[in-house]
Amino acid sequence: MTSTTDALLLAIESRREEATALTQELIRIPTINPPGDAYEACARFLGEHLKKRGFAVEYIRSVGAPGDSDSHPRTNVVARYEGKGAQGNSECVHFNSHIDVVEPGSGWTFEPFGGQVKDGKVYGRGACDMKGGLASSVIACEALIDSGIPFNGTLEISGTVDEESGGFAGVGYLAEKGYFSKPRVHHVIIPEPLGVDRICLGHRGVYWAEVETKGRIAHGSMPFLGDSAINHMSAFIHLLETKLQPVLSNRRTAEPVEPPGARVSTLNVNSIHGGQVEQRYANDARGWPTADTPAPVVAHSCRAVLDRRFIAEEKLEDVKREILEMLQELQRTRPGFDFNIREIMSFVPTATPKDAPVVDATARAIARVLGREPSYISSPGTYDQKHIVRTGKLQDVIAYGPGILDLAHQPDEYVGIDELVQSAQIMALASLRLMKVSL
Ligand SMILES: [Zn+2]
Repeated sequence: MTSTTDALLLAIESRREEATALTQELIRIPTINPPGDAYEACARFLGEHLKKRGFAVEYIRSVGAPGDSDSHPRTNVVARYEGKGAQGNSECVHFNSHIDVVEPGSGWTFEPFGGQVKDGKVYGRGACDMKGGLASSVIACEALIDSGIPFNGTLEISGTVDEESGGFAGVGYLAEKGYFSKPRVHHVIIPEPLGVDRICLGHRGVYWAEVETKGRIAHGSMPFLGDSAINHMSAFIHLLETKLQPVLSNRRTAEPVEPPGARVSTLNVNSIHGGQVEQRYANDARGWPTADTPAPVVAHSCRAVLDRRFIAEEKLEDVKREILEMLQELQRTRPGFDFNIREIMSFVPTATPKDAPVVDATARAIARVLGREPSYISSPGTYDQKHIVRTGKLQDVIAYGPGILDLAHQPDEYVGIDELVQSAQIMALASLRLMKVSL
């Protein structure tokens, strides 16, 4: 409540144009994932921008990580600024943003990578998810450094790849190299688009597995001579729907997951494929197939990818066991049923306690800047927090940033300029509190 605080907030407000321009420039680098376009260009843009402001900048390509290749290098950037002031502790506050965006898709009235401004909003793919949040964190740190407020702590900003596809070559890779662990880093804010007054404490767990049912190949005109893997899969999916699903829908979490529909356990079949490789054929004017037609065979293999999201009250081993039990039940009761199950990935739920330093500091900053208390939420899906908690072993992590979550991945995605500025103000005040700088 001091005049120094007011001066800092005003200084950030006066960087409104700068915050807007930076968001526009970031949007104009089309970092589409997959396949991972323009990562190098975006990482270099951010790195060079911060280097000019006195940050020590490192580019880290995750060689050997999933997706990395010479045509699509997975280049991450980490920028670090060590305060030289006598005030406060020597802890590090890290802002982590993913630089990748999903494909634009159809239905846009704005140019997806144009960064157009209209009625106080910046439009484009990644505007809210999450180049706007990245811009806010840059403005927050730069304003703090330029304010002349002496601090002894460290500010870090990273731009990382592949969050939209699991983050293994981004935060996952960096966490393995120690970039998200003590003593280097103490507090992490991930500026995902959750809204200026909401603090996201963590996320539900995820278990992805591929189930294969097996059959016996035969001529499609005499299916009785074979055994269809597709029919076996259909029995499995039927059992999931009629037996497991009702149980899951009744398991409610005490965590504040948003939207509330996700406060129960869920299961989705992400994909299914049985029989021959998919062929896309059409018919010409005569009614003849225009491309190769599939040969008539009984499917000897069918594969489905299960996407099971679980709540904090459940254990991963039980999640796995329940699915296995469905398969074993069919093995007992259905003649010829045989299967394989292969885990693709799993992460347990995370939930940073409400009294953790980063939560408390952000909540106080929200109250100071917006004049209202924050709401606390949890995410139905995972994001890069999972790597920081599991691999980096850091607990003081939240997601907080400008933008409306529902607009992420939608056509005409935007971020409000007022929100960019407010978030930057909140991030700056939270950083000062975490570095124990008193104003
Ligand atoms: Zn995101």
